[in-house]
Amino acid sequence: MVLKFNHPGLLRSDNFIGGRWQGSASGAQYAVCDPATGDTIATVADSTAADSTAAVAAAHSAFDSWRQQPAPARAQIIRRWHALILEHTEDLARLISREQGKPLAEARGEVAYGASYVDWFAAEAVRSYGDIIPAPIASKKMLVTKEPVGVVAAITPWNFPLAMIARKIAPALAAGCTVVAKPAEDTPLTALALVALAEEAGLPAGVLNIVTSSREQVADVVGAWLNDGRVRKITFTGSTAVGKLLARDSAATLKRLSLELGGNAPFIVFEDADLDAAVEGLMAAKFRNGGQTCVCPNRVYVQESVYDAFAEKLVARVQALRVGPGDHEGSQIGPMINARAVDKIERHVQDALARGASLLTGGQRLSGGVTNGPNYYAPTVLGDANHEMELARDETFGPVAPLFRFRDEEEAVNAANDTPYGLAGYFYSRDVTRIWRLADRLQTGLVGINEGALAAESAPFGGIKESGYGREGSRYGLDDYMATKYLCQGNLA
Ligand code: NAP
Repeated sequence: MVLKFNHPGLLRSDNFIGGRWQGSASGAQYAVCDPATGDTIATVADSTAADSTAAVAAAHSAFDSWRQQPAPARAQIIRRWHALILEHTEDLARLISREQGKPLAEARGEVAYGASYVDWFAAEAVRSYGDIIPAPIASKKMLVTKEPVGVVAAITPWNFPLAMIARKIAPALAAGCTVVAKPAEDTPLTALALVALAEEAGLPAGVLNIVTSSREQVADVVGAWLNDGRVRKITFTGSTAVGKLLARDSAATLKRLSLELGGNAPFIVFEDADLDAAVEGLMAAKFRNGGQTCVCPNRVYVQESVYDAFAEKLVARVQALRVGPGDHEGSQIGPMINARAVDKIERHVQDALARGASLLTGGQRLSGGVTNGPNYYAPTVLGDANHEMELARDETFGPVAPLFRFRDEEEAVNAANDTPYGLAGYFYSRDVTRIWRLADRLQTGLVGINEGALAAESAPFGGIKESGYGREGSRYGLDDYMATKYLCQGNLA
């Protein structure tokens, strides 16, 4: 490994199954690459169905004793895990930045953000209350309790290598579930480090298991979980296409599902908005992580009377963005995750230009200087976008802000909702009556009102329509990992 950290125990290349670090039974490994250079930074286990089945066996045999631990005892271990994550922030941030490419400052923010879910669910573990229902007759007692659903399979994407997996594992453990996890091919190292810290925190063997795999193996590895009746729940963050596959292929064993899927977020700027605040909000929401977040605005609708002024302010801000490797001082936009991602961005921009968009800034790959690598793309603003363009229908997942003109509120709302997706939506307005109308009418699970930064561990995160179902974080988040049980005792008189 070419990586060096203060805590050498964080660098792992093996699976963790039943409390033991072990390579794939097949002995295979695959290379993890630095997206800034394309160089190999580590090799990790390239698992097979045999490994993922072994992980389920371990999680299944650990389930009874973990669920029977009193909630405060589970909470104490999760709290220790949280403290260790914070203690090793710098190592974890360097790992995130190195394998995912985001600027170091953002990576540090991700560690704090991911850790906040761990802390939150340590506290929620002791608050999974039930209910007592007034019985219709005196000789009965009627109660509702909640119990862990069982073995949970967590499958995560590469864009937040720490936060996405932390916000699945923490509520699962808090609820009393055991976990088998598979991180994305591109970013396994941070997930392995997180599991190493959970081991250090004293999590019993088998409670948390992780297997890594290449894209070639993923259908096999996850397929074993989908077919295994011992896995009672799948929690997935990733694309809508894969979410649908998981829903279809888990039907035979009727697993519970939480699906945090793709978005196509609208960002609407009305003529009564504070334009400077709207530009700030868009910069934060659109260009964080190089535009590679599921809540990134994908379509920016600007009312025609303020369109030119807004475009001018936005272009000035975008041109000032500094692009470079994540660990380079002052980088604000890192490399994209891989060649496929850059190809998609390029295809969307070319398609938009061919269909009449105007190029306001950016619009090409970058190379040379600090951006000497295969995966850099210039922060881009396109004008005169329309709904015939590919980027109006499909999330670009890159640093591209297309501006669409609109005349009135009705047109903006209809355009914003004209998508099968419904994760995040944003709008800027100072008209209080409009604010409540829009809050009602936007078909998204998350709504930013004069605000570009939405996510918080205390708030329910999740979508509607083809952006999925289930919620992560908040007091609602634990319920996704618990089954409701009704107890009725009779003949008490
Ligand atoms: P993806 O291709 O769906 O991958 C997500 C995870 O699923 C990865 O671990 C991937 O493994 C795995 N996977 C891929 N094909 C699979 C298959 N056939 N069977 C089982 N698992 C499979 O998504 P992505 O491109 O990495 O991530 C970007 C997407 O995630 C975007 O659509 C984004 O909007 C969405 N996202 C949503 C949220 C949210 O909270 N709603 C948050 C972040 C991202 P490999 O890496 O090995 O392919």
